[in-house]
Amino acid sequence: MSSVATSTDPSVEGPVVHAREVHMSYGDVEVLHGVDLDVHAGEVSCIIGPSGSGKSTFLRCINGLEPVHGGSLRVLGEEVGWDLSGGRAKAWHPKRFAQFRAGIGMVFQRFNLFAHMDALDNVACAPIRVKGMDAKAARAMAADQLARVGLSEHAHKRPHQLSGGQQQRVAIARALAMEPALMLFDEPTSALDPELVDEVLEVMKALARDGMTMVVVTHEISFAREVGDTLSFFDEGVVVEHGDARTTIASPQHARTQAFLSSVK
Ligand code: ADP
Ligand code: MG
Repeated sequence: MSSVATSTDPSVEGPVVHAREVHMSYGDVEVLHGVDLDVHAGEVSCIIGPSGSGKSTFLRCINGLEPVHGGSLRVLGEEVGWDLSGGRAKAWHPKRFAQFRAGIGMVFQRFNLFAHMDALDNVACAPIRVKGMDAKAARAMAADQLARVGLSEHAHKRPHQLSGGQQQRVAIARALAMEPALMLFDEPTSALDPELVDEVLEVMKALARDGMTMVVVTHEISFAREVGDTLSFFDEGVVVEHGDARTTIASPQHARTQAFLSSVK
């Protein structure tokens, strides 16, 4: 099997995500109006901003779930949206696309686990189906991933037998099972009861300490301050402000960032 680029792969030069003037429309309605953002290997890049500002859309563009209609978006060394030489949307070869997608883990607000499978099989499933991994080896690896998120004792429970926080940790283990070079999180704690938020953030902190490259859309300003390397403030389809996470949270320069941060702090 050919290998998928990892963040330590010397063949991938430059930033893991390199977005320049990224435009994206749903039908006639443009929602990304020229997004510029770089994410470097090993970086925790936090994205904040009001509802409807294009944060989820941008994450979906990064992993190829939505087309890019203008500008350049390079992810893991691959131009994902726009063939600049030909001036048209990139046509992926299906195999190449599957390989690209396998290198990126995504965790959503809703955990989307398979209800009829236990935690172990939820984690083992994609490596078996997508990578063609032997079932026994995949289950052993899944057990390791569940241990990593502190769920060894719950491996044989189905989603409905787990708390929301535990389900989200299974979802993270499931993404990690594909050995992604980049992890995308879209408000991973927003659907959780407040007392379950910390256990998920702790797992994300451990991942960050392990050097995982992460893009995290979040309302958890304390997480961004503590774990984030950079912070980007999205508003109306553009990055209004980008900088060192702690500095930007402590002293935002743009009036809209200031207003947003004072509303969520
Ligand atoms: P955020 O994640 O920051 O809340 P989104 O990326 O979800 O913002 O949405 C950006 C804009 O695009 C919003 O105006 C939203 O209504 C619109 N939008 C999102 N998804 C779709 C879709 N599938 N079809 C049409 N419009 C959409
Ligand atoms: Mg969103």
